[in-house]
Amino acid sequence: MTRLWNDPADFADEMIDGFVAANERYVRRVPGGVVRSTASPAGQVAVVVGGGSGHYPAFGGLVGPGLAHGAAMGNLFASPSTQQVVSVAKAADNGGGVFFSYGNYAGDVLNFDAAQERLRAEGIACETVTVTDDVVSATPDERHKRRGIAGDLTVFRIAAAAAEAGADLAEVTRLARLANERTRSFGVAFTGCTLPGAEQPLFTVPEGRMAVGLGIHGEPGVDETAIPTADGLAELLVERLLAEVPDGVDAVRGARVVPILNGLGSLKYEEMFVVYRRIARLLADAGIEVVDPHVGEYCTSFDMAGTSLTLFWLDESLEALWQAPVDTPAYRRGSVTPRERVDAVAAAAGGSDAVGPADEASRAVAGTVLAAVRTIAETVDAHVDELGRIDAIAGDGDHGIGMQRGSHAALAAATAAVDAGAGARTTLERAADAWSDKAGGTSGALWGVILTSIAARLGDEGAPEAAAVAAGVAAGSQGVMDYGKAAVGDKTLVDALVPFAATLSQGIDGGAGLVDAWRAAAAVATSAAEATAELLPRMGRARTHGQNSVGTPDPGAISLALIATAVGETLAGLATSNDDKENAYVD
Ligand code: ADP
Ligand code: MG
Repeated sequence: MTRLWNDPADFADEMIDGFVAANERYVRRVPGGVVRSTASPAGQVAVVVGGGSGHYPAFGGLVGPGLAHGAAMGNLFASPSTQQVVSVAKAADNGGGVFFSYGNYAGDVLNFDAAQERLRAEGIACETVTVTDDVVSATPDERHKRRGIAGDLTVFRIAAAAAEAGADLAEVTRLARLANERTRSFGVAFTGCTLPGAEQPLFTVPEGRMAVGLGIHGEPGVDETAIPTADGLAELLVERLLAEVPDGVDAVRGARVVPILNGLGSLKYEEMFVVYRRIARLLADAGIEVVDPHVGEYCTSFDMAGTSLTLFWLDESLEALWQAPVDTPAYRRGSVTPRERVDAVAAAAGGSDAVGPADEASRAVAGTVLAAVRTIAETVDAHVDELGRIDAIAGDGDHGIGMQRGSHAALAAATAAVDAGAGARTTLERAADAWSDKAGGTSGALWGVILTSIAARLGDEGAPEAAAVAAGVAAGSQGVMDYGKAAVGDKTLVDALVPFAATLSQGIDGGAGLVDAWRAAAAVATSAAEATAELLPRMGRARTHGQNSVGTPDPGAISLALIATAVGETLAGLATSNDDKENAYVD
């Protein structure tokens, strides 16, 4: 249970403010997260980590000499946006390139990859290693699909130690990849976690039971058992991890291993020590040499009661790097020589609010865009609980609140743009940027892509033809597939978007007006979204718990269909209330 907050919507932001105020010796705030407040040598590779908030000390608590140079910090359990990652990476860059590492979650991958592309286009070299330590989240032959949990720490530390030792970007990447290949984790939970202001936990574990194979965002476990004794839990954890020894480890006997027993948020240290007592014995019995054991909280899941065991299988190069000293707000090892503080000059002033020129016709269309964005926000508000509920069945339950944050940020940005006299393109572009910036998560990034694509076809001069709107929707549909790599049938919003775009284009090509074609397309999208109930998810967070979701439609497809339908009605309402029926944007 989380008890203290002001406005739940401000929680993550206020948490970062307080964290920075308490740790100015280590970190300073920049748009999108934090970077070191101490100087780093010119040319040193910058290690940038990140993810949603709610996992402290991951990720901001791991910024400082010997560990990360910066952390992009998203909203609670939501990926940072592309803009946030770009902003933190630029502030962290020392001229030696940027090395990104984070847990392998769909939303994070989308946003960090997009940021990486943007930075490369600006001439900043970037490489990425996503952490995939959680053994239950995919089979060994699909290891690249596994999610990252407490194993983040080993990969971050090895990358950072290599950077600190002067390795170049390619070498940092090679070593981090090796660390990831040699890190395996496995976890359990006794209770779910409850986000600030939420009435219900994201998931529950029945009293006296234990969820096996939890995810750190409340993704349900893959199995459930009675709670074992402390020794019984130690045996379960060690047995599972010794059943999958990484390639390259010649023999278990004599292997040198760093064990990390990680608390998920509300497990007592004392309980973990009782469990660790048995883990140490079991590892010794297996002939394993334990190096620098860790028992504590390294990657939490808000107030979840649970724990995971990580085994990091060292080799000589990794063990040498593991000795490097670290000094961060939440994690210290060895002694770091004092570092000079940098001037906390506020980074990047941020874009100006001035809008480019637009003619009167386009400003009138901007009014329609604003009405449509308002409809989107109202539609999401009306269905926020339902969308969260569907997402909780196989995903993490945040689809409603994520869409709400995104659509309201979009509405505020569109309103400001219209007040400043913007044309249709600029208005929708501002809305799209605000959406992806504030929503976080996978769907936030994808809605940013959809709206940006439509915006590009609207222009800031004249009223667009209906065909231009259809072409914008088609480009958005293609953009979502290019960006998220999902195809029709993977049980994502693509299943509703593709038929929506196709029906809209066909209707308009066949001579229908925008309103009629839009309404027909929305009806097709609605049936397609409902039909996703029968599918097994193959993309996104829901993939791990696919079987749970059969019988329930995909939340992203449902929200898209609801929005398409409501926007159709808004366009129809504007068309009938508009005396000037010749107007192209409502025709
Ligand atoms: P997150 O998955 O980051 O928690 P949301 O809960 O807001 O984000 O959105 C979940 C929705 O995002 C899913 O229901 C699905 O429609 C959509 N989605 C997830 N991954 C992809 C992808 N790769 N391509 C297209 N849509 C996706
Ligand atoms: Mg979700």
